[in-house]
Amino acid sequence: MVNKELVHWLEETVQEISKRNLTEITLSTGKTPSGHIHIGILREIIICDALRRIFEKKGIKVSFYLFMDDFDAAKRFPYYIDEDYQKNNLGKPFTLIPCPFKECGCESYAYHFGNELISTFKHFGIKNEIIWTYELYQKKEMQEKIKIALENTDKIKEILKKYILPTLDDEHKKLFNEMQRTWIPVMVICEKCSKIQNRAEDGSIHPNRAIKYLEKEQMVIYECPACGNKGKTSIYSGKLKLNWRVDWPAKWALFKATCEPAGKDHSVKGGAYDTGIEICQKIYNYEGPIKLPYEWLRLGNQDMGTSKGIVFTPEEYLKLADPEIYRMLILRTNPMKHISLRIEEIPQYHDYYEKMENIFYGVEEPESKEDYDLYQYLYPLTKISSIPEFKPIRIPLKLLTFLSQMQNILSLDKLYKKAMSSIRVNKAEKTISIEEFKVLLKRTENWIKEVKIEIDRITDHTIIRNILNKIDIFTIPDIIPKDIINVLSDKQLQGFRLFKNFLLENDNLDADSIQNKIFTIAKKELNIPPKKMFEAFYLLLLGSKSGPRLGPFILMLDKDWLLKRLNQLEDKK
Ligand SMILES: [Zn+2]
Ligand SMILES: [Zn+2]
Repeated sequence: MVNKELVHWLEETVQEISKRNLTEITLSTGKTPSGHIHIGILREIIICDALRRIFEKKGIKVSFYLFMDDFDAAKRFPYYIDEDYQKNNLGKPFTLIPCPFKECGCESYAYHFGNELISTFKHFGIKNEIIWTYELYQKKEMQEKIKIALENTDKIKEILKKYILPTLDDEHKKLFNEMQRTWIPVMVICEKCSKIQNRAEDGSIHPNRAIKYLEKEQMVIYECPACGNKGKTSIYSGKLKLNWRVDWPAKWALFKATCEPAGKDHSVKGGAYDTGIEICQKIYNYEGPIKLPYEWLRLGNQDMGTSKGIVFTPEEYLKLADPEIYRMLILRTNPMKHISLRIEEIPQYHDYYEKMENIFYGVEEPESKEDYDLYQYLYPLTKISSIPEFKPIRIPLKLLTFLSQMQNILSLDKLYKKAMSSIRVNKAEKTISIEEFKVLLKRTENWIKEVKIEIDRITDHTIIRNILNKIDIFTIPDIIPKDIINVLSDKQLQGFRLFKNFLLENDNLDADSIQNKIFTIAKKELNIPPKKMFEAFYLLLLGSKSGPRLGPFILMLDKDWLLKRLNQLEDKK
């Protein structure tokens, strides 16, 4: 499927869209705000955002929508929603359910969780327009789509039958045929109980489907399965919603959707996408969008789901990592491959990003022409805002990792100076302000916290060791516990004294000379295995027998602080 000659997999879709010869295109995505929305949804949104950028650059007008499907009924609620609250609101459209959090003050359940997602878009460089489905159904143009569906119920049924029947076993075929006899593609919000569906005791779902369409009056009749209320409603009342298999193509037709990605649940044969395209063409007279199927994004080895336990939101991601890294992760990966987002692999993601950036700015030689072309294509699509003229300054994640764990012993000013002195600054580049540095420091701190939680979850020691080999995690105790001083030998204490003199006599040390000095103190002056002296240093600094490579670590520490730490030994002895 993937054409090897294309610079990037996105080009396949770009070419397909271009074949339609349009001056305006519409990109479409959708999500039901049924709870905290996990970061996986950003896969289709970022893919579309990249398409938006590509086509805007070609001078084509792009409309990019996210349909927030707040007219969908609450079939179930996530575990963090109060149980009584769940009972009262099951079966209502999310937009008619109040916000579940007292004192939050937002308009509805749908707005609460929908806006939580939407508020992160600007941080990910996503520029789209939100369409709340319930609001859309209050509009005449969408209500006309309901009318068309009601007038073409038989045709719609035939299409659904053609696609769905072959996917069913005999028993379900029978049930399907039975259900279809009275089926009407419209559901109604009950005027009495505000529900649009009912969940029976046995867990089965019964939509409040219209039972009759009165064509002359342009009304539908319903009998609410939740409260038994019998009602009659105009098709222009705003209380009607199309069945989801029809709702999708109706929206495609209304907005002339050119392309919409589809998660694998919708991409299957006989799925809503296939039936949607045919309904769109035969009932709504529009050719329908180009389908862009994609695989799920997982968190480590776990699937995420809004109603299941594992939810990692874009908001949480932003607290601990760089959004450009996330864009890169989505856009470098073929959509048919699943992505495992691994918090502990963020340093590797950074390495890839830096390589791409270096090649983009000509600082590093690409391995091949293909690599060069790929990075020229990919890099701009990962940026949150405009592409800087010169390569942006970056504080390496490794350094930030060090510094963020030294916040208890060094002031922000000192940490900032250390960070800035270790990166080469080209005059043409915009520098990093102390405020920006503070944000980076906080983000790194949050990330390390998360890695620690991850490590606690892992039972395989080899995996833990692999993580710790790549990420320097440590804690510097404010004072050295007495029992640690007591285990130090006289030779080790003497070694510290020698090292203190070395520190006092030398300015502008580098990591290697520190590392070598400790080694020679042990080997030549004390005649003990160097390992013993290194261990002593880790005990003194970290209260544990191991830690990051000592030379660079000590170099990173503040000289005054270090001397004070060494003096503490003298005081106690
Ligand atoms: Zn709220
Ligand atoms: Zn009712």
